[in-house]
Amino acid sequence: MLCPICQHTNSRVLESRSAESDKSIRRRRECMNCQHRFTTYERIEFVTITVIKRDGKKESFDKSKLLRGIIRSCEKTGIEASQLEAIVNEIEVELQGRSQREITSAEIGEIVLSRLSGISEVAYIRFASVYRKFQGIRDFVETLNHLQNQKDNLKFAATVPQSSEISLQQDAPECETPASCTS
Ligand SMILES: [Zn+2]
Repeated sequence: MLCPICQHTNSRVLESRSAESDKSIRRRRECMNCQHRFTTYERIEFVTITVIKRDGKKESFDKSKLLRGIIRSCEKTGIEASQLEAIVNEIEVELQGRSQREITSAEIGEIVLSRLSGISEVAYIRFASVYRKFQGIRDFVETLNHLQNQKDNLKFAATVPQSSEISLQQDAPECETPASCTS
């Protein structure tokens, strides 16, 4: 830290104490050259992560938006909201720890999927499908290959008509002749 008076690079710390509700450390320093006293603050660098979307557009990483997306895909999967919040917090910490300040939305999607795969296969597949719809991703399917069979089974289950739909179908057709109904 350069002395503001003589630009000397060495100083000794006279006092350290936490400041700003433990979010920074305030240090009282004395220049080793001219004995000028000055104060420095050390705080955690909190950087803005830029997300590069599939269409090339850039936006700031939005933790709450990611959480909303994950919560939506994990509805009725029995996963606690606190668990999903923890996942998103972990992802943020991971992104903050990277040397790169940019990440593609596809990379984020893969990180989310890797976390979900350890918790719930259903949530994993749901998130993957929502994610694909939002991004229009084709090559993303490659990352799903090992879950493809389960996915197909779920799709089949999802196409089974609900009971209300069945009753509608039963009510709708009117038979012209009894013969066509019994054939
Ligand atoms: Zn100095």
